[in-house]
Amino acid sequence: MTARVLVVDDILPNVKLLEAKLSNEYFEVITATSGAEAIEKAEAQGPDIILLDVMMPGMDGFETCQRLKSNPATAHIPVVMVTALTAATDRVRGLEAGADDFLSKPVNDIALMARVKSLVRLKMTVDEWRIRENTASQFGVSGGKTGLLAEPSEQARVLVIEDKSFESEKFLETLKRDDDSVVAARSGDEALALAQQSDFDLITISLNMANEDGLRLCSRLRSNERTRAVPILMVGEETDMKRIAQGLEIGAHDYIIRPVDKNELLARVRTQIRRKRYQNRLRNNYEASLNLALTDSLTEVFNRRYLMVHLEKMLVKNRETRKSLCVMVLDIDHFKKINDTYGHGVGDETLKIFAKRIKDGLRDTDTLARMGGEEFVIILPDTTPELAQLISERLRKSIANEMFKVSAPEGQIKVTYSTGGTMITHDMPATVEDALKIADDELYRAKEGGRNRVYFAGYGLVEQREDEAPMPAGALQ
Ligand code: GH3
Ligand code: MG
Ligand code: MG
Repeated sequence: MTARVLVVDDILPNVKLLEAKLSNEYFEVITATSGAEAIEKAEAQGPDIILLDVMMPGMDGFETCQRLKSNPATAHIPVVMVTALTAATDRVRGLEAGADDFLSKPVNDIALMARVKSLVRLKMTVDEWRIRENTASQFGVSGGKTGLLAEPSEQARVLVIEDKSFESEKFLETLKRDDDSVVAARSGDEALALAQQSDFDLITISLNMANEDGLRLCSRLRSNERTRAVPILMVGEETDMKRIAQGLEIGAHDYIIRPVDKNELLARVRTQIRRKRYQNRLRNNYEASLNLALTDSLTEVFNRRYLMVHLEKMLVKNRETRKSLCVMVLDIDHFKKINDTYGHGVGDETLKIFAKRIKDGLRDTDTLARMGGEEFVIILPDTTPELAQLISERLRKSIANEMFKVSAPEGQIKVTYSTGGTMITHDMPATVEDALKIADDELYRAKEGGRNRVYFAGYGLVEQREDEAPMPAGALQ
């Protein structure tokens, strides 16, 4: 792993010492000797992690950290405070300023490398989501750029894995302050069962259980689909440092040393919860913007942009699997007349009902997209011509045979549409444009042939199995 580390300390020999240790492990090191310089370099050079001295003249480490974590440009960069202060109150102060962890001076090499590596790894995951969210927001949606510290840290669901009840009681009591809902498990199996039933925001694992290897449990939780992304906080003894380093290596996020200081526990839990929520928010924003960019806002079916890319993929897959797929173009008949007679609003209502009814008539693996105006496209993968024609007729009747309830004076109107379809067999070298063009030509024939009908390339008019009700008087035909 290679990463860029920003080392901040007002005393030059301290900077040089850390720089040497990190360079030895092939990290790229940048340095700063004051809080202000650290902020400037963090913004300009985007390090993957910051090792920050606490005692500095002027702006101290706490304030520097607070500023870094409140700035959207640097909030995602993990900060490890390097300090000679060992009191729990100082650690809590740092955590509250947004620090991700502490290293005490003189710096222990194992602890340093374990910490740097695991935090850098975590950052890479967050970076991935930040990039995606950024790309997605270029489609026009932004989730608001607030930093990590803006995330709420209360009311979390926490799973405590600990076989000594007086210890788990302490966790329960402490986390109550944040209104967290805490569930305790006394064994790995019990924990895994609980984790299968509900989603947790954090899991704490004791490394000192009598009949349970905390690290093994940690790796089981990491490889489980449902718990893979849940942060893990290890709880261990001072003498467990080697195992803790291993734990960080296999994916635990943080640790706390016994005897557990309640404020420190609370602060570490809050840090993890915030980070998880921040990551969730990036992911949710990403998915929401993607949805927005690829769906039609009126009918909520896919839009043209999506269809073009998707159809291309389907054509490739069709050739690879030696199957046949069907592409159909649907166009509402005399739609202009609906607009002209009842107004654009009723036209919109019609489009919505139309899209919903067609969608309800399709399988999950089929795709419906609105190409624009009153024109839609359907892709039916892995389909025979007989089945495709059957479906097209069934869809046609689902529209023509049931009036549309819209806010017109009559309360309901009759709507029909025409379809042009084509089968694309695996041996046809058809492009997306070819497929749509062939279907479009058939649509034209269906319109010419009298509308409310289906034409398929190579087959002509698809036979209408008429169980259709006669057209009501006054229908828009
Ligand atoms: P044909 O049977 O030949 O398809 O005739 P048509 O009237 O359906 O087709 P035409 O292409 O002449 O008219 C389509 C109309 O759809 C024209 C346009 O104003 C209207 N339209 C396009 N998009 C929307 C929309 O989002 N909402 C509404 N209400 N109308 C739309
Ligand atoms: Mg039309
Ligand atoms: Mg049209």
